[in-house]
Amino acid sequence: MLPLVALVGRPNVGKSTLFNVLTRTRDALVHDEPGVTRDRHYGVCRPEGRQAFAVVDTGGIAGEDEGLVGATTRQARAAAEEADLVLFVVDGREGASALDDEILAWLRKAARPTLLVVNKTDGLDSQAALNEFARYGFSDAVDVSSAHRRGIDDLIDEVLERLPEAGSRVELDDDPERVRVAFIGRPNVGKSTLVNRLLGEERMIASDVPGTTRDSVAIDMERDGRPYRLVDTAGVRRKSKVDEAVEKFSIIKTLQAIEQCQVAVVMLDASEGVTDQDATVLALALDAGRALVVAVNKWDGLTDYQREQAEAMLVRKLGFVSWAEAVRISAKHGSGLRELFRAIHRAHASATRVFGTTEVNNALEAAYTSNPPATVRGHVAKLRFGHPSGTNPPTFVIHGTRLRTLTDTYKRYLENFFRKRFKLVGTPVRFIFKEGS
Ligand code: GDP
Ligand code: GDP
Repeated sequence: MLPLVALVGRPNVGKSTLFNVLTRTRDALVHDEPGVTRDRHYGVCRPEGRQAFAVVDTGGIAGEDEGLVGATTRQARAAAEEADLVLFVVDGREGASALDDEILAWLRKAARPTLLVVNKTDGLDSQAALNEFARYGFSDAVDVSSAHRRGIDDLIDEVLERLPEAGSRVELDDDPERVRVAFIGRPNVGKSTLVNRLLGEERMIASDVPGTTRDSVAIDMERDGRPYRLVDTAGVRRKSKVDEAVEKFSIIKTLQAIEQCQVAVVMLDASEGVTDQDATVLALALDAGRALVVAVNKWDGLTDYQREQAEAMLVRKLGFVSWAEAVRISAKHGSGLRELFRAIHRAHASATRVFGTTEVNNALEAAYTSNPPATVRGHVAKLRFGHPSGTNPPTFVIHGTRLRTLTDTYKRYLENFFRKRFKLVGTPVRFIFKEGS
């Protein structure tokens, strides 16, 4: 399970700056491309080689309970109340304010494990800044400068120390052939209809894999002779009426499902197009580097004209994940499911393909020779050699000189070249550029 850490604090103390520092994925090519609208309030911190955790920026806790402000406040509170750890963020420059006192009082009532984070300590005496908040009575506090990325590693250490043990997760690697799939998407796109349909089909053998936490359940199934594990299906199978705040909250569940899967199937409702919420779900899957299949559901309910419209919309809105296969399905009638599972299988095969150093080097040389990087202000990048460095997603390390001058366009060219040459579909591809040999 992915533990949840909530950032709480009054406006302007630097919560969103801290959020970005914690959740930013390095080396990713897919970021901030047009079409990727994202909800900047939820993300995942993935410290190298250590336990990942979800981060929610609650915006602000204090405030009226009425109207729009009230809605935000209620959601922030709900987030904080669910969190495994609250980071109470304060401003080291301004010191403690009345609003901080109010938030503290609320936090005491909420009684969640809380760590005090004194931000903006750049150019300040850290001890003095910490002392400012001594009367808050936290035995530990961490001083950071989010804007300068100072103290962040120590903060992550402190966070990890306070998070619950990852626990005995659902066995992930017992059968390397078994493909772990998560069906994700905003409410009402048809996730539970699909899962229940899959489980109802007789040629499929389904069995529950007991989850370790209250909400996590995995189901093993076979289809066309291939084994799959549907992860995090609890929320999908047992449907209950949920209020709006909780509904919004399923984004945490989405993050958890993404974390556990190898292939994320993002479901859309063909009749509604690609909404901002859909784009957010896509972005979360991309951030995690997961293999991706887009299932365009409710295809049955459309007229020919509407289908044409839907096709055009998919091309327009999903351009930023053009490498992902989009499959038209009807969960209700069970059509398109064979094609859907073929796409899942292809995405998984691409994502987990193991590369040899020679083929990577040959590909790099071929890409470089047929289109060398352009000269930028008198400098030109040289790509010397490359090697594979991991799967899911396929990751390639490229060594060379003046790599800083490589443009995004060139990096995209490399990516597309590798994709074509190795026939990679349905998976992101990552390049890590290393200066020197
Ligand atoms: P939020 O309202 O709590 O999300 O705060 P923001 O992250 O938007 O930051 C508010 C302001 O504080 C922005 O102008 C930031 O650039 C600035 N800020 C954030 N972190 C730091 C820091 O570590 N040091 C300094 N000097 N300024 C910071
Ligand atoms: P979830 O919130 O993503 O799990 O969505 P549900 O599975 O509960 O589906 C939401 C609504 O869409 C229900 O009324 C379903 O009957 C309907 N629905 C689901 N799949 C299809 C489909 O393939 N075609 C049509 N026409 N309706 C569907």
